[in-house]
Amino acid sequence: MDAIPGRPISGLFSAPLPSAMALPEGLENTGDKYIEERRAGKPLNHRALKVVYAGMGPIALQNALQLKARQPDTDIVMFEKRAEYTRNHTVNIDDQCFRSLKCYDHPILKQGMAQLRHKIRSQHGHISCKEFETDLKLIAQKMGITMHAGSDYEVVAIGDGKVTFKSGEALFDALVCADGAHSKSRKALLTMADNPDYRGEDVVFSELSSTDEDSEFTAKKDLQYRVRVKYQVQGPTKKLASGWLNVFRYAYVTFKAMLSPVEERIRQLNENTNEVTIDFFISKKEFDSLSGYNFSNTGKLSDSMVSDRLKEKIKNWQALKYKYCQESIISGTEELTPYTLSIFHARKVHHVTPSGKLICIAGDAATSLPYYRSLNNFLVVGAKLGRALGSSTRADLAKTGKAYEQYARRRAHWEGFKAKLKNFVINVMKFYLWVVNKVLWQINARDSQKVREQKKHISERKADWHHPAAALMGG
Ligand SMILES: Cc1cc2nc3c(=O)[nH]c(=O)nc-3n(C[C@H](O)[C@H](O)[C@H](O)COP(=O)(O)OP(=O)(O)OC[C@H]3O[C@@H](n4cnc5c(N)ncnc54)[C@H](O)[C@@H]3O)c2cc1C
Repeated sequence: MDAIPGRPISGLFSAPLPSAMALPEGLENTGDKYIEERRAGKPLNHRALKVVYAGMGPIALQNALQLKARQPDTDIVMFEKRAEYTRNHTVNIDDQCFRSLKCYDHPILKQGMAQLRHKIRSQHGHISCKEFETDLKLIAQKMGITMHAGSDYEVVAIGDGKVTFKSGEALFDALVCADGAHSKSRKALLTMADNPDYRGEDVVFSELSSTDEDSEFTAKKDLQYRVRVKYQVQGPTKKLASGWLNVFRYAYVTFKAMLSPVEERIRQLNENTNEVTIDFFISKKEFDSLSGYNFSNTGKLSDSMVSDRLKEKIKNWQALKYKYCQESIISGTEELTPYTLSIFHARKVHHVTPSGKLICIAGDAATSLPYYRSLNNFLVVGAKLGRALGSSTRADLAKTGKAYEQYARRRAHWEGFKAKLKNFVINVMKFYLWVVNKVLWQINARDSQKVREQKKHISERKADWHHPAAALMGG
């Protein structure tokens, strides 16, 4: 690969390939062959583009793979500020995404994607985002894409045809910025695009605002407020609703107690301890009572700021789990994280610099969708951008950028429409739960006398079992 300042981060690929991703013998060196041919004196294709990526999450990788497959001579270099991908949530990926990936005739990509698709199918459409990203990186490495990761490679400024990272600079014909939802590149691109006097000087990230401004988006809306609650339990436990019969038996009770559908997951921490995670919808007021908390600074149940109503809901959930699953909660282990289900699309996702270089914003930096659609949407949009770049010449870049802008916007509108429909259904369900908790004739009305008597005899937690919904048992 011809020169790029800096060295590949040590250890990034030192781990052995997971066996499911191991490429067959015959393909083992195919990626290196491209590099070897160039080292052996194969003339460089001077018409080939130099494409740089800021961020190396799943969208950037997938985009780069399609570009490399379409035009193997493209000189691709990727920069990632973290040595390891940190987001370790599970994502749901539609098989449809794979159907739209063309892969062309590139044997490594075809083989790698087929294995990845098979793996995801066998896990019923689920995969950890980190595993997905690691598998894409392995394919990229085999295809001869240059990847640099670690704090030295944090992109700190972008200019006209030049990207500056902490330990050097790289030149580009096209720059694809997929640096996540709180993208600095998005701000930098808008700074360039909004300034009619921009002449190509570097836009330095540290000089840009550190908060996401509404002006960066065309349509930004928080559709729902949610909270994730994690707590530990002693000994074994199981999900409240783990099969269809169980769903019918418990779902109504639980949804009524929580005024929301609840998603539950269980993870074993060690032989004696399990971690339960639940996600459910909350009101704006409850969400605001958790203000300041996030995934790296979680709230506690004992915090006086947390709304009493929310505390009551969590205790009622735990009481239900105690009653039906004999769950033995380790008190004080509760961690609360508020988050929103939001929708946004960046005001602009491409810009052509004064010297004709193309800058594109992709992935979460460009479009965010709720209900598990963000990655699914951009796997398709990003692949199309990768292929379009693979067919572009320097003279075509402006046209490619414009077509990408239109396509990304169209997809965002369509996906946004579907998200709003789903949101409507959720709101109807929430309203129904609110109403059935209010009506006089509800069959599960609280028997206050009974509760009072029981409260005399049982602990505070046990008293929570007698929440109207908990008392219903079986709806
Ligand atoms: C809990 C949760 C569950 C989800 N489930 C689903 C799902 O089921 N289905 C779905 O479609 N989507 C889902 N999503 C969304 C999905 O995870 C994202 O859409 C996807 O990860 C976005 O990928 P990305 O490459 O755009 O950005 P990211 O994954 O955020 O990657 C951006 C990368 O850029 C790097 N970076 C940032 N700034 C710089 C810089 N200055 N220099 C160099 N590198 C930089 C970051 O370190 C990071 O590695 C979920 C998200 C969450 C949080």
